[in-house]
Amino acid sequence: MPSNYPGFEHSPDREALSAAKVKALESLLIEKGIITSNTVDTILGHFETKMGPFNGAKLVARAWVDPAFKERLLADCNAACQEMDFPDGMSGAEGEHMRIAENTPEVHNVIVCTLCSCYPWPTLGLPPYWFKDPTFRARVTREPRKVLSEFGVELDNSVEIRIWDTSAQIRWWVLPMRPAGTDDMSEAELAELLTPEAMMGVATVKV
Ligand code: FE
Repeated sequence: MPSNYPGFEHSPDREALSAAKVKALESLLIEKGIITSNTVDTILGHFETKMGPFNGAKLVARAWVDPAFKERLLADCNAACQEMDFPDGMSGAEGEHMRIAENTPEVHNVIVCTLCSCYPWPTLGLPPYWFKDPTFRARVTREPRKVLSEFGVELDNSVEIRIWDTSAQIRWWVLPMRPAGTDDMSEAELAELLTPEAMMGVATVKV
């Protein structure tokens, strides 16, 4: 959980209760022979090593240093992924139709799945707990400036906030602004600056 998690009025043990429920379900599925004891670990390992925010970070860092690549990334995210040294399957498993919205000094983008928890798994990994939270989903669409402020993102009133409904049809994510003072940094160093929160629009990139 990010340190800037605003809480959204839920009991602090909510995540632990969900984890206990998942554990019970997993045990039952193993007992009934539907999955093996390795299944969950294999899937989690996949999202720890192959599909995660480290892919999104590489795409953003490349876009920051290569304007032509940035145009291609904005025009067709899935095609741009093909240019990278990524594992197979970037356009599968919740990544069939990914699109990226570019932050500028005038426009700040935020993603939310208003229906459930749709998220670009290949570039950002699995969504954090609060992203699925009904209160977050309702509030970020109604009072985005206030919710962003609770995350620690204070935007000038002149900055337009655009909320993108990331859905089963299009999985949106955010191209954050490159921070000042990073002119001497390499592409790999720039990638290290990126966080999932920044690529969701609920944080800015800090040096
Ligand atoms: Fe959804």
